[in-house]
Amino acid sequence: MSRFFSSKYSALEAYTPGEQPKDMKYIKLNTNESPFRPTKKVLEAVKAAAENLQLYSDPEVTPLVSKMAEIFGVRPTQLLMTNGSDEILNFAFMAFCDSETPVAFPEISYGFYPVFAGLNSIPYEEIPLKEDFSVDYKDYCGLNKTVVIANPNAPTGLCLSLSEIEEILKSNPNNVVVIDEAYIDFGGESAIGLIEKYKNLLVTGTFSKSRSLAGARLGFGIACEELIEDLNTIKYSTNPYNINSMTMAAGVAVLEENEVYLNNCKVIAETRTYTKEKLEEMGFFVLDSKANFLFAQSDRISGEKYYLSLKEKGVLVRHFKKEKIKNFVRITIGTKEQMDVLLKTTQEILKENEK
Ligand code: PMP
Repeated sequence: MSRFFSSKYSALEAYTPGEQPKDMKYIKLNTNESPFRPTKKVLEAVKAAAENLQLYSDPEVTPLVSKMAEIFGVRPTQLLMTNGSDEILNFAFMAFCDSETPVAFPEISYGFYPVFAGLNSIPYEEIPLKEDFSVDYKDYCGLNKTVVIANPNAPTGLCLSLSEIEEILKSNPNNVVVIDEAYIDFGGESAIGLIEKYKNLLVTGTFSKSRSLAGARLGFGIACEELIEDLNTIKYSTNPYNINSMTMAAGVAVLEENEVYLNNCKVIAETRTYTKEKLEEMGFFVLDSKANFLFAQSDRISGEKYYLSLKEKGVLVRHFKKEKIKNFVRITIGTKEQMDVLLKTTQEILKENEK
C-alpha cells in the first residue's frame, strides 16, 4: 500500500476472482462461464461495431435497451444496462444503502457483496444459511435493511420460490430488495414479473453465464422507473459510457438469437443432472443446484485436496476456504465431454486417495 492510499480504503479486502492460471491448458470449470462460444452473428456484429471505435458509445444503449424490453416484457425505462452485473450490484449498494440503511445478505453467497459493502462504507449483516444450505426467507422478513439475495444462490445453486421472494418484498416495504438472478436461466423462476407490483424490487441479471458473453461484460437491472432513475444518477455520476459499442452490438445479436442461448441452458441443465448422478454414484453429497454449477462434497477426500488433485491433473474447479463450506468444491457445468473428463479424473483421485 502506498502512503497516498486513502485511509477510507486501507482496510478494504478486495474481491478475489477465480484463478486463470496460464501454466498449462486446463479444463476450466471454476468461474461458471458458458462452455458454448458466441454464435457467428455475434462475432460479425462485434466486428462491424469495431469499425466505429473512434466514436463514443451510446450512453443510452438504445438498440440494446429496446431489444431487452421486447425480450423481457418490460418498458425501456424499467431497464439499465451495465458493465457486467457486478456494476449494477455496486450501483445498488451505492444507491440504496448507507450507514442508516445497512444491508443484509446470506453468509454463504456471492463473495462480492461484502466487498461492495466495504467499498461503500455500508454496515452489513451476513445471515447464516439453514443446516441444509438453503436460504430461510423468514430471516429476511421485516428486516428494515436493504436485502440482497442471489437466486439461485451461489455457490450452493439452491433457489427460493417466487412466493418466498414475495414474502420478503411485502414485509420490507421501506427497503429495496435486490434479487441477483445471474443464474436464473438454468432453472429458477425469475422475479422480473413482480416489478410492477413491488416498487422496492430490483432484479439484476447478466449475459456472462447463459448468454456466452462473460468477456464482453454485460449485465442489467430491471425495476420500476423510480429505482432505475436512481441507478441512472449513479451511472451518470461514474461512467456514462459504461457499455462499449462492441458489447452493445454483441448483446443485441445474442438477443436476436435468444432461443439458441436458452437452448444451450437446457443442454447445461441436462449435463448438470447427468454429472450430479455420476458424482452421487461415487459417494458425493451434491446439492440440488438450479444453476450452471454443482456444489459437491465427498466423505472420502477433503474439499481442498480434491480441488488440488483435480488441478494437478488439469481440471480447474473452485474451492472456498470458509469454514462452513471448506469440504465442498463448486464445479461449473461444461460440455458433456468436459464433465466426462472431470468424472474420470475424480474416479482416479478417489482411487489414489484410498492407498
Ligand atoms: N452475481 C453472482 C451470484 C455471480 O456469481 C456473479 C459472477 N461471478 C455475478 C453476479 C457477476 O457476474 P458478471 O459481472 O459477470 O455479470
